[in-house]
Amino acid sequence: MTTENVVIIGSGPSGLTAALYCSRALLNPIVFCGPLKGGQLMNTTDVENFPGYPDGVQGPELINQLEFQAGKFGTRYIDENVSSIDTNVYPYLVNYNTIEGSETIKTRSIIIATGSTPLWLNAPGEQELKNNGISSCAVCDGAFFKGKTVCVIGGGDSAMEDATFLSRYCEKVYIVTRRKELRASKIMEERARADPKIVWKSGFTVVKWNSDENKKLKSVTLKSTTDESNLTWDLLCEGGFIAIGHKPETDFIKSTKIKLDSEGYIDTEINTTLTSISGVFACGDVTSSNKRYKQAVTASGQGCQAALDCEKYLESINQL
Ligand code: NDP
Repeated sequence: MTTENVVIIGSGPSGLTAALYCSRALLNPIVFCGPLKGGQLMNTTDVENFPGYPDGVQGPELINQLEFQAGKFGTRYIDENVSSIDTNVYPYLVNYNTIEGSETIKTRSIIIATGSTPLWLNAPGEQELKNNGISSCAVCDGAFFKGKTVCVIGGGDSAMEDATFLSRYCEKVYIVTRRKELRASKIMEERARADPKIVWKSGFTVVKWNSDENKKLKSVTLKSTTDESNLTWDLLCEGGFIAIGHKPETDFIKSTKIKLDSEGYIDTEINTTLTSISGVFACGDVTSSNKRYKQAVTASGQGCQAALDCEKYLESINQL
């Protein structure tokens, strides 16, 4: 089995930028694209804040361009999911499954860029109604709710973006937030507040989701978070979009000694992308350092840093 210089796990803006820099440094990287090639940008429509696109760019288009750009310099792509990595041996092992069985790649270094996935409320009725009214992806499922009433749960930028997007199709969009104060940026909040189809339900929490006789979402039961009456009431809606944050994709490194923070994000050494294991780097939304920012452009910037840190590491072990 040949030993690779670097394996990059994840194909969002951080992984693909790492691939661009690694391939231009002639490291001949392999990128594992995972189940959702391109990461969360694939579920985003207009990206208006990525520098260099004054008229905005569609998320999937941006990913295609990054993939093409890194591919031009020799990046190789594997459309599979990494199941685990072994950092107790060197070269390190990257394990993945194909339809034929399990495969392993040996590598001198690893860049982890696996991002994060949306969180669910896990309220009663939610599991049964997923794909029958409840979704975590407005961009994917919004068009199914043309002319209908839906609710969006959450008060961050994701919720504002989802509500504004859904108002293109829906007759009415409720935004349900548990606190009156929002976490969303002012510009996105203002855009949502200016939208006549959006109705605010601030200071409420979801008690349960209710279905109709066809097992489709009919309403959501809400409870006030500000009074102590414990009174509940039903808000009629045929769609429920949950936008309450994300979980880092770190399950596949659970058996390693890579240090994670209390929420499971990878801890990196200050001002670098170095993890607690030499030769293993992390960048983008999977790291605690990008938790505060969670932007495509900051993820991309960290991808560049990871590639440069990786190149320095390979130099230090005389592999360049
Ligand atoms: P955030 O963590 O910013 O917001 C999560 C929201 O969900 C908060 O309002 C939170 O309420 C609420 N929430 C969490 N758990 C629950 C629960 N159990 N029940 C009810 N409400 C709950 O996550 P986002 O996904 O919105 O954003 C993550 C990052 O991505 C941010 O940095 C954001 O700026 C960025 N982003 C940027 C976009 C853009 O620029 N186009 C688009 C989307 C996201 P509470 O405040 O009470 O905890």
